[in-house]
Amino acid sequence: MQNNLPHLEAFIVSHLVSSGPAAFKDLKTATRVSSPTLMRALQNLSETKWISPIGRAKSTGGRPATVYGLEASVYALLGIQLELPGVRLVLTSLEQKILTRIVFSLQGYSPSEVVSAIASKVSRVQKEYSQYRILGAGLATPGYVDSENGEILFVGRAPTWQNFPIKDRLQVALGLPVVVENDIDCMARVEQRTLGLKTDFLYVGFIEGIKASLYLREQFYKGPYGNAGLIGHTIVDREGQVCRCGKRGCLETIASIQSVCDRFDRQVQESQQNDETIRQIKSCDDNWQKFRAIAQAAESKHPLCAEIMAAALNALALALSNLISIVQVNLLVLGGALGALPMGLREQLDKELRKNLPSLLSHRLIIHYASATSEDIAALGAAQQFLQYLLSMDGVSA
Ligand SMILES: [Zn+2]
Repeated sequence: MQNNLPHLEAFIVSHLVSSGPAAFKDLKTATRVSSPTLMRALQNLSETKWISPIGRAKSTGGRPATVYGLEASVYALLGIQLELPGVRLVLTSLEQKILTRIVFSLQGYSPSEVVSAIASKVSRVQKEYSQYRILGAGLATPGYVDSENGEILFVGRAPTWQNFPIKDRLQVALGLPVVVENDIDCMARVEQRTLGLKTDFLYVGFIEGIKASLYLREQFYKGPYGNAGLIGHTIVDREGQVCRCGKRGCLETIASIQSVCDRFDRQVQESQQNDETIRQIKSCDDNWQKFRAIAQAAESKHPLCAEIMAAALNALALALSNLISIVQVNLLVLGGALGALPMGLREQLDKELRKNLPSLLSHRLIIHYASATSEDIAALGAAQQFLQYLLSMDGVSA
């Protein structure tokens, strides 16, 4: 079985996943085994099509060394993001290149119907990409999850999703192993890998909800319900609007993609404004696009958009500075729709956030905008998480 790789082989694949192609001597340094042992492992991995020679290193005299990379044409991984009401599905190669993506809406579907719909799409992908062997799937999910058994306990924005054993149901429906992880943690993993981060950091995922992933002492702190760092439902305005969670003045009522778009619609209707910028924003197909357009208009000093974005960024800065004051990390990564925030708004958020912090923390804090901003990030991170799980099955930490 290819998914029961011996310890050394799994370590080599892990190394190639995290560090990219490597020459024999680099792998020898990383694995600290003898040349014949390493040679046997590389041969085994070549024969089972996990790796292949992809070229030769620059010669420093003598015969140039072979460079090994992950074999891109045999194994594939599924990443599935439960966006609720939508689902995003990607098929990736071992080196995390997207081979295909499917995005579909399941408005009004029950959890069981969602599982059947995912299985039907996966079956279509399996037929279209029959040259690949799909090793398994990572599922990125919002809400509270029992990480032990992969059961969704509760999703705030989708009340029918309660106590649903999604991992078991998907495994049966797909006939593949599945791992389940919080959607924002999946996004944070991609960023961590892209930047090669080892230090403690907070990653803020600004998607349909707002959650901070807490990477502390080289692992993600998830809490007992897989959802630690959920700042979207921390209260930032006692007198504010009623949130979908039933409380009043949660961060998400002011700063989320949805609330920014809703506030725009409301204020446009109330004020009867209808300039060219407003018409363009109204013509956006989806909320992500609309959020970006509102942010761009705010950057260009459109009064209505500037006011909406200022309220959102101030509320976000308040919640984030409280979190940073408590956790006291020196690196904050802003991801999701925040990754594409225009420069002027970044400065606005930066200033507001630092203003709320003790000067020592403010002085040391580095704010980084996520380099990975595509809407596929959570699904990609889920596929990556599945691969790490697979490679750790024999006790190797991937
Ligand atoms: Zn709330």
